[in-house]
Amino acid sequence: MQFEVFTLLPEVFPSYLETSILKRAIDRGLIDVRVHNIRDYTHDKHHTTDDTPYGGGGGMVMKPEPVFEAIASILGPGSGVPVILLTPQGRVFNQRVADELSRHEKIALICGRYEGVDERIREHLVTDEISVGDFVLTGGELPALIVIDAVSRLIPGVLGDPTGAEDDSHAMGLLEYPHYTRPPEFQGWKVPDVLLSGDHGKIEKWRREQAILRTLQRRPDLLETAELSDKERKFIEEIKRNL
Ligand code: SAM
Repeated sequence: MQFEVFTLLPEVFPSYLETSILKRAIDRGLIDVRVHNIRDYTHDKHHTTDDTPYGGGGGMVMKPEPVFEAIASILGPGSGVPVILLTPQGRVFNQRVADELSRHEKIALICGRYEGVDERIREHLVTDEISVGDFVLTGGELPALIVIDAVSRLIPGVLGDPTGAEDDSHAMGLLEYPHYTRPPEFQGWKVPDVLLSGDHGKIEKWRREQAILRTLQRRPDLLETAELSDKERKFIEEIKRNL
């Protein structure tokens, strides 16, 4: 899968992309992240990418011309590639959106700065708008990395364990079960017996129940859309009755 990133701060990206799982995925050709400097698409002496807002007020606004030109030059006409603006005003990013994006061969991500981008970029260039949460960051670079990271984990082969993403929190609409590693006892706190039993059936059942319990305690809203069997729905009703 290919990510075309458009930013005024390309230097932000290498350190994160050149480590761990994402680096391996890039080295193995499973993902390709191309970072484009919007400033390279300016034609004036000062390489101007922003200007003051019409109507007054503080801050600067990203000019439309370099962003339109950068996208046209990299994607070409009528490419059909989703052009995603990172903005706190977009639909909120979650695992479902990551899954949806992972089905494309290529996506483009535009990182805003300052007060954001000229509205004509949003209206006439962008095909999707994504927010990483209800807070405001100084730029779209971290949100772009969040999208790249979450989407890449879903590309077959990126995670060493092919089932690695299946149990993750949110993958099945539930939070993930708790994890333990050695030692079996630490400062008097023991690992649950079932995990040391070697009985895979029991472990599977315990993990599923823990995932449901954890979701019920922390994010009951997720249970409304989670994929649950009738038996599991009854299990939840029973727990609720005994609370
Ligand atoms: N004035 C804008 C507003 O109120 O909607 C916020 C601009 S913000 C300071 C600058 C840039 O950071 C935005 O254009 C966007 O690209 C990025 N950004 C900030 N918060 C974000 C979020 N929660 N999700 C995605 N992008 C965000």
